[in-house]
Amino acid sequence: MARDYYGLLGVGRNASDQEIKRAYRKLARELHPDVNPDADAQERFREVSAAYEVLSDAEKRRIVDMGGDPLESGGGPGGFSGAAGFGGLGDVFEAFFGGMNTSGPRRPRGRVQPGADSLLRTRLSLAECAVGVTKHLTVDTAVLCDLCQGAGTNGNSKPVRCETCGGAGEVQTVQRSFLGQVMTSRPCPTCRGAGETIPDPCRKCGGDGRVRSRREIAAPIPAGVANGMRVRLAAQGEVGPGGGPAGDLYVEIVEQPHDMFVRDGDDLHCTIRVPMVDAALGATVVVDTILDGPTELTIPAGTQPGEVSVLRAHGMPKLRSSARGDMIAHLDIVVPTKLDAKQSDLLRKYKAMRNGERTEVLSAQSEHNSGLFARLRASFSGR
Ligand SMILES: [Zn+2]
Ligand SMILES: [Zn+2]
Repeated sequence: MARDYYGLLGVGRNASDQEIKRAYRKLARELHPDVNPDADAQERFREVSAAYEVLSDAEKRRIVDMGGDPLESGGGPGGFSGAAGFGGLGDVFEAFFGGMNTSGPRRPRGRVQPGADSLLRTRLSLAECAVGVTKHLTVDTAVLCDLCQGAGTNGNSKPVRCETCGGAGEVQTVQRSFLGQVMTSRPCPTCRGAGETIPDPCRKCGGDGRVRSRREIAAPIPAGVANGMRVRLAAQGEVGPGGGPAGDLYVEIVEQPHDMFVRDGDDLHCTIRVPMVDAALGATVVVDTILDGPTELTIPAGTQPGEVSVLRAHGMPKLRSSARGDMIAHLDIVVPTKLDAKQSDLLRKYKAMRNGERTEVLSAQSEHNSGLFARLRASFSGR
């Protein structure tokens, strides 16, 4: 006995193609296994899908209208094949309306992807930062698989279309919500979005097209780099999945503290202790510099505590420039603490010659104090 295909879809025998389509769409939304895991619903979904397959095909519908059953011709019972051609519910709507997503189906993203950047840190002394160096570094990144040259396949085998997603690279799920049914897409778990799989993968890389490898590189570090700066080495990073183009390698500078200099941009600061008499009479001393070896530094006669003496262009080189920062010597005037009798005597004679020189309290508004008190006020208000 022929099945009642019209009854399964709930339409009259004279229903138009549009009405049949609409009726099936409505039922599919209720019964599709993605929405309704109930066993009865799944059985009904197969039946209504079969009914739709028959009634949407003019030739099969003609057989039904003549009292026959176009799906019975294969002989076996339960010969419904209607649902077989459909994948997810999304495909059902795809077939009718060109997709539910406003964005439409995405293209598979492909197996070959660009590689990631990688980051490596290297310690440099201040002197190395000043002159620039070639650093020999050990890098552990993904590199192109030399057995398959990135193809990921074994010998002459070929990738095949992914069975889970049919090559789309994504799978759709439908959830009920108060807005109705919402379809969401996620990357296919089988092919991870590539749309294809490799049934016979490369023996060396397992199909990834790349292998991890440790290698030595010579990283040119330019003069003038500073702590935290990153030097980019193009295409020395990770090779991508499927042998995709390598990312970049960044070498980050970790500058070691120097035992004499404190760096401030391109300037170098140091502190020099100057005996009281040298500060008073003036002196020329020889100091170490970062790039120029021992160099004469002038301490002018009458130098006061906290004053600086600057060696212009004896600091750090500016990056990608021939210019240099300064070396700034902060002069710490040392008052002698242990005087023998002869020295004390000399200083008393000196004091007598400087008659009129007295210890005095300065006005708070004096030029000398304004800087000091401004710093004090700042430190109090900062609490
Ligand atoms: Zn390989
Ligand atoms: Zn897939």
